[in-house]
Order: sequence, then structure tokens, then C-alpha cells
Amino acid sequence: MRDFCFDTELENDGLHEECGVFGAYDFDGNDVAPAIYYGLFALQHRGQESCGIAVSDTAGPKGRVRTVKGMGLVHEVFTEETFASLGGGNIGVGHVRYSTAGGSSRENAQPLVLNYIKGTLALAHNGNLVNTPQLRRELEHDGAIFQTTIDSEVIAYHIARARVKTKTVEEAVALAMKKLKGAYSLVIMSPRKLIGARDPFGFRPLCIGRRDNTFILSSETAALETVGAEFVRDVQPGEIVTIRDGEIHSDTSMCGQSGRISHCIFEYIYFARPDSTLDGVNVYRSRIAAGRFLAQDYPVEADLVTGVPESGTVAALGYSMESGIPYGTAFVKNSYVGRTFIKPGQKSRESSVRVKLNVMKEAVQGKRVVMIDDSIVRGTTSARIVTMLREAGAKEVHVRISAPPFLHPCYFGTDIPSEDQLLANKKTLEEIRRYIGADTLGYLGVERLDAMAEGLPLCTACFTGDYPLDPPTEDIRGEFADKEYFSKEEPFRCMRNI
Ligand code: SF4
Repeated sequence: MRDFCFDTELENDGLHEECGVFGAYDFDGNDVAPAIYYGLFALQHRGQESCGIAVSDTAGPKGRVRTVKGMGLVHEVFTEETFASLGGGNIGVGHVRYSTAGGSSRENAQPLVLNYIKGTLALAHNGNLVNTPQLRRELEHDGAIFQTTIDSEVIAYHIARARVKTKTVEEAVALAMKKLKGAYSLVIMSPRKLIGARDPFGFRPLCIGRRDNTFILSSETAALETVGAEFVRDVQPGEIVTIRDGEIHSDTSMCGQSGRISHCIFEYIYFARPDSTLDGVNVYRSRIAAGRFLAQDYPVEADLVTGVPESGTVAALGYSMESGIPYGTAFVKNSYVGRTFIKPGQKSRESSVRVKLNVMKEAVQGKRVVMIDDSIVRGTTSARIVTMLREAGAKEVHVRISAPPFLHPCYFGTDIPSEDQLLANKKTLEEIRRYIGADTLGYLGVERLDAMAEGLPLCTACFTGDYPLDPPTEDIRGEFADKEYFSKEEPFRCMRNI
């Protein structure tokens, strides 16, 4: 949970970003730390709990890696002093992370740096394995001692172990990938190579960019633009790309291994920046489409369409374009709500929603308002926002959600909670409408998701229950409940790396 959650119930009601990875290799020998720093800034929306950068110098002593990582936002962890302590280097990887409370500690911050018999590896991971307990147990039985409670260390261990038997590090990555099940986009730095790997399902995005003689790997294309790099291509599901000797080499031996490519639809609905393009589909365009579909499926007479910032705003624009109802800004978001030591409780008069978001009375007074949001999880936040609109004078509030109802948890790197905590599992559409206090309510239909993502093969499991691969089982959960990295209350959420 983020440090700026004032109100536990409300903060738990939202979905959190997952993780962002970024790597760079400059073949002219220039320092890549500034590019990674700005790349992480551009990916900050994917994780605000901890971050880090590891750099090395391919011309220097083999495998000497300097790392700075810590809890907090990029600008908090990287002060002038800590950034200078990195010392620069022409190859490096970076990471921004979100996890739940159980996994939130400095030890779990990434990149992970591993010293082993063949040298040094630095690894940054976005995703969530579903077979972590088995893999970890296997390693522990072989005498492995873990420094962290995250599945990324399990991945790093498997790569290092395989590397002892292989000629190259990319072969070791391929061997390790045969054992990993779940979602992972990896950026790995070895002494002379930058490696990117994506799980065969392609759950989480990963792309390649280039700026002169600097090659870049990034979770999102928006971060490439931030550092002035051109998009080269996406890493394919199951592909391993190795950047060495000024070229991109590809190993596709794991491509097609899943038999079912499953890009996460929630990247388009919520996680990714609207100025990013993932696997050929622009996020802005997909959100506009979602808004248009909502207008077609749930029309209403109204005076104003507005979106809950950030991810609701583009869908609101789409709704407005399709319906002809004017689009307007009704909310002001306080972007400066950072980490604070003042944490009012639930009974406090300072509501976390009000601190983060305020309604402009002038914009909504006396109006029939269509409010677009990206999701309803437990419903608490939606209810507060509807109340705020009414208190500001809105005559009617019509809520439209640019995603289908959440009915199932996610095991692939998103903190969608268990079924019993999801409002849509407990209430009918009409009951949810009454619970949040809306005049009308409409969700994007599941049948619209394909068109929204322009025909990409998708994972939609949190809406449909159709998981691309088996989720972790009850037995595994019970067996590992005594281990520190698996809390009994939130067994799956604590194992997530992201
Ligand atoms: S279950 Fe939902 S959030 Fe998780 S990967 Fe699939 S679509 Fe994305």
C-alpha cells in the first residue's frame, strides 16, 4: 500500500499500478544513467512504492555494478547526491515498483543484483509468477537462501543456476523461462549484454527503442519518447532479445509456447499511459473507442460528460464524441499528494478522496452529468465521488464504467482482490447503482473488449474467469501460508513481485 493512503478503506478501493522496467546500453560508451532516470520518471505511474537503477561500464572491470534503490518516488530516491553516487556507466537497468503491504520493503526494491560464479546479473521484472512456491521450494531444497520475498529473486536464481551449464546468459534465460509460469517482462543486464524477455503469453508490455547508438528496453513507448528514442519494435511474447555488439539479436525458441497470447486488457483500460502504444494498439485510441461504445450501449440525456482523472478522461472524451454531449473538466486532481507523515484515519474529516480530487462547482452546478470512471472495485470511492458531484450541485449523475464488472482476481501482476471483496460479485447492477448513489449505471460489455483492443489476443480473466493458464491452487496456498512471503490473509497478493 502506498504511504499516502490516508483512509485504508478508500485506498484499498482503487487498483494500483504494477511495475515499470527500463534498460539502456550505449555503444559509444556514454553514460546511460540520466536516460534511465528520465525513463523511470515517465513510467512512474506504473509503480510508486520503490524504485532503483543499476549501472555498469562495459569497458570497466567486468561485472562491477553500482546500484541505488529505495522506497519512494523516483525524485525522492534519486537526489543529486544519490544519483551522483551511481557514478555513471554505459549499460544499466531501472525499475519502478508497486506491491502490497506484505511485500513492501527496501530489500524487495529492484533491480536485483546477483553475484555468482559467472559474474554479475542485474534484473528488473514486471509481472507475477503463478508457480513461485514450487520454484522457490525447489531452490530452497538445493540450499538456496533468499534475500527478498519476491518472485523476481526466484527468476534471477533460476537464470544464475542455468548459466553454470550454458555457454551464454541468453541460453540460461531461455532455460529458466521453461520453468517460469505466469506474467513476466524482464530486463536483464549482464557484464556485456542487455537482455529483454517476455513471457509466452505476453501479459505485460515490453518494447525496444533506439537513440543514435543507445539501445533501450522499456515497458511503454511513452518512456522512449521522453528520452528522445525512436520506437523500434515490441518484444514478442516468448521472445528473448539480446543487445550486444551494437545489434539486436533475437531468440524465438519460446515464442508460441503458451499456445495462447494473452495481452492484459487492463493495460489499455487503466495501467498504461494514453500516449503509449502497446503491441501496435494505441492506448488513447482504445480508450476513445471504449467511451464511444459506452455512449452507444448506455445513452442518456445529459448536459456534460466528464472523466475521473486520469484514466477516465479519455473514455469520457470518446463518450462525448459519440453522444454529442459536451465534454468538460469537472475534477481537479492534486498531483502533489505525495508521501506524508500525516495519515488521518477513517473518522478524520479529511477524506483521502477529497484531498486527491475536488469537484469544480461552476462546472457541474444544475447540470445532468455523465461521469466516466475506469473501474469499480469495492465501490467506496465511486460512492464518494458521486456524493461530491451532488454536493457540488449536479442535478443528475450518470455513471459509466470503461471496463466490464470485476468478478475474478488477477494472478498476473495486478492487485485485483479476491472474489469476496469485489462489489460486482455481491450485488446486481441495480444494487451497485443504488450503493454508489448514481441515477443510472452502465459498464462496458465484455463483448466490446475485442474491438476496443483492435483484435489483439487478450487476457480478460478478471471479467470472464477465463484464465489463460491455471491460477495457483488452494493446496499451494495452504502449504506456503506459514512462510513469511505468503500471508494467510492475502496469500496471493504477497507473492506478487511487481
Ligand atoms: S486477469 Fe485482468 S488484470 Fe490480470 S492480466 Fe488478465 S486482464 Fe489483466
